Amino acid sequence: MKKDDLIVITGAGGFIAGSLVRYFTDKGFTNIRAVDIKPIDRWYQTTEGVENVADCDLDLRENCYRVAEGAREIYNLAANMGGMGFIENNKAECMITVLINTHMLMAARDTAPDLERFFYSSSACAYNLKMQEQSDVTALKESDAYPAYAEDGYGWEKLFSERMCRHFMEDYGIQTRVARFHNVYGPYGTWDGGREKAPAAICRKVIDAIETGSGEIEIWGDGEQTRSFMYIDDCVKGIDMITHSDNILEPINLGSSELISINKLTKLAEGYGGVTLKRNYKLDAPQGVKGRNSDNTLIKQKLNWEPDTPFAEGLEKTYHWIREQYLARKAGQVVVE
Ligand code: NAD
Repeated sequence: MKKDDLIVITGAGGFIAGSLVRYFTDKGFTNIRAVDIKPIDRWYQTTEGVENVADCDLDLRENCYRVAEGAREIYNLAANMGGMGFIENNKAECMITVLINTHMLMAARDTAPDLERFFYSSSACAYNLKMQEQSDVTALKESDAYPAYAEDGYGWEKLFSERMCRHFMEDYGIQTRVARFHNVYGPYGTWDGGREKAPAAICRKVIDAIETGSGEIEIWGDGEQTRSFMYIDDCVKGIDMITHSDNILEPINLGSSELISINKLTKLAEGYGGVTLKRNYKLDAPQGVKGRNSDNTLIKQKLNWEPDTPFAEGLEKTYHWIREQYLARKAGQVVVE
């Protein structure tokens, strides 16, 4: 890659792709096209020197053809998604994202003759649900996606789009790379409004309990469900390494292997706020699978690396960032949630 080769990043008004734009800019790349359906004032971050294409609906084929034209690399992260509360109640919306992935792959094939890489962000939600019924889980390895029994809606769309990437590589020679992200968290991500994920939601609830003096927190489920959470800096670094590898031609886990329960997460967040709250467990709330962890054998073998930011360290930074947003909003400032 030359520093002025065109890099196209979709979903750039969102959490991960917004951070990826900043990451590549910091690495000295000067020709980045960042694309999102949201108006620019709703983007979490905008990076100076980048061509920002806002209000651009990538469900539409013509928009994908327009933004992909001439790209050397494409990072396709645009998706209509959110935490469990969103994906359990918006399955059709999640599946319509198949239009973005289909049209971006077609656009890569038809308008970017010099394309070297096409990265696609899949998810741990593509894994077979039957392997995630205990909180004390065996970590998921890549082959556990089959036989297929993915998360309804969102997970099936991911699995389908993964296979489309595979077949575009086989049939058209497009160098696709696919990572299955496991719960990404960090600053500049969704922290309120219904699409936020557990780390942000719990931090916000702790901050809210402190600011309102309620002394209570609502937790979805019994709090014993477990996940691994990957800090955003590890995520963007992993995307870079996977995309530029020559030996990762199949979907690969990109996640932390540090297993955390929601109760532990809550305790950590309480610690940053210096409080202990009364916990109200909402047992009928959406909570997803009982347990999920990332088996990192393959990524360690291929890259000699795995996401390794300790959860307590990443969560503390996230907590303080959310607190800043919360207080700014409370003071009447406009913030992106
Ligand atoms: P995000 O919601 O913050 O960002 C996604 C962006 O895509 C949003 O800004 C949204 O406006 C944009 N978008 C949606 N529909 C669009 C359309 N039709 N045209 C153009 N833009 C559109 O989500 P994120 O957490 O940054 O996730 C990025 C990718 O990573 C997604 O593909 C997601 O499925 C995947 N992923 C994320 C996680 C996680 O924990 N955050 C876990 C697994 C997989």
